[in-house]
Order: sequence, then structure tokens, then C-alpha cells
Amino acid sequence: MKHFPELARRITVKAGNDQEASVAECYSISGGSVLWTPSFRRNLFDWEVDEAVNLLTSLQRQEMDFSMEDKWHWKWNPEGIFFVKSLAARLGRRGVPDFPVQQVWNPISLTKASFLVWTMAPNKCLSKENLVRRGIQILDQSCSLCGCSAESIDHLCLHCPFTAQLWNHLLKSLKVCWVMPRSVKELLCCWHIVGWSKKKKTLWEVIPSAVMWCIWTERNRRVFSNKFLSLEDLTQKLVGKLISWLSVAADFRNCNVSDVLFSLS
Ligand SMILES: [Zn+2]
Repeated sequence: MKHFPELARRITVKAGNDQEASVAECYSISGGSVLWTPSFRRNLFDWEVDEAVNLLTSLQRQEMDFSMEDKWHWKWNPEGIFFVKSLAARLGRRGVPDFPVQQVWNPISLTKASFLVWTMAPNKCLSKENLVRRGIQILDQSCSLCGCSAESIDHLCLHCPFTAQLWNHLLKSLKVCWVMPRSVKELLCCWHIVGWSKKKKTLWEVIPSAVMWCIWTERNRRVFSNKFLSLEDLTQKLVGKLISWLSVAADFRNCNVSDVLFSLS
């Protein structure tokens, strides 16, 4: 189904009521030719019909070996059996395509902040937009920080006027000109800088997760506790997080905390 991402994302192909159906249960043989008869979990919308037709056309072109038993086969292991080790070896060799692993799992960031960024990069974090997509009814879908636009992860973390001031403060302190990309994932993929000392690069790499952690916790404070931090207080909190996280990094171990504050002041 990887060639039919919309179908795979929105609906599940099944045979009868069995979502664990084998391939053999999804076709019949009529007049010596194979007739594919998968059913879908729900009726297709108009915009999904073309992709479903392409799926059936693609299936029709497959050559079937009816002498073989229908069974699961894990292609990254010579025996065809799934082992976690084979998956880890595969990911270790090739990495996850188009995913900013190094930026998401920065060893200096707080683990729960890394986990948050891991959910934000593929837009899985539960913003109001994503909650509505999952069928949750929300009357006020506006951004919890600025109240002007719909609350999506990309808006909250990058394009919200409130968040933009936080980014601008950091970037201006570091004397960096930066144009925000469209999405969190794109930001993480391009968050590199050249020509800096190792120490400054360490600081640079931890900034996205610190900003996103502060923005998300502030968003939750407003939504669930009806309490607000001013931009100045949130900036201080952000700098505090950076100091706290960087204090465990080897580059900053013998460094006075005020050095970090100085670079961001
Ligand atoms: Zn906003």
C-alpha cells in the first residue's frame, strides 16, 4: 500500500469483516483469470476513487503463483521472518528517509522534549487542528497564543506572531538571519549552521526543541489552567531551559552559566 498513501492513510482494505485477511481472501478466479475483490472499511469518497482504481489496476498486473502458500514475509531478513534486530540493522544502515533524526533526538535536550518534537515533526501532536481531524468537536479552533489563526502545529511553533517574537529574540541575539520554512519538519531538516565553534553549534542545535517545549507548555497552561506567561517571562523561561540542558554538555561543563546568558542577552 506504500504506493497508495492516501488509501492507506484514510481507509483500510479488508475482506469481509476480517482486517487480518490474507491475500488469497481478496481475489477469486473467474474464467481462468484472477478477479481482485477487496472491500474497503467504508465507502470511498469521490476523490479516493481514482487511487482505488489504480490500486486494482496495479493488482491486476501482478503475476500470481497459486502453488505457493499465502504467508507473511519480512523482506529485510533472509529467512523472511521479522526480528527487531533486522529492523534496527536496516534503520541503522539507511536511516529513516526524510526524517531529521539527529535534530529530533538531540542528546542534550530533555527526553520528554525530544519526544514532543518527535510527535511534532510528522504533525501528530494533538493541536486543535489535529483534534478536529480526529473527530473531536472544538468550538474555538483559534491559536491559543495569538487567537488570530487556526491552531496547527506549524502555526504554533513557527508562524504564530507570539512565537515569532521568541524566535526573533534568539536569532537576533545570535546575529543570525533566518527565514522560517513552512513546517516543523522542514525547519529541523535545515537547522544547520557552518563556521561556528563547537560550543556555539551545540547551543544552536538544542534551540528548536527548547523553543517548541516552551511554546507547547505555555499553550497547555493557557488551555488547561487559564494562566498566561508574558513574552518576557517566557523568554526568561526559555533561556533557563537552555542553561539547564546545556549544563550537562561536555562543551559547557566548565563554563559559567552567565556565558550562555551573555550570548543570548
Ligand atoms: Zn498564533
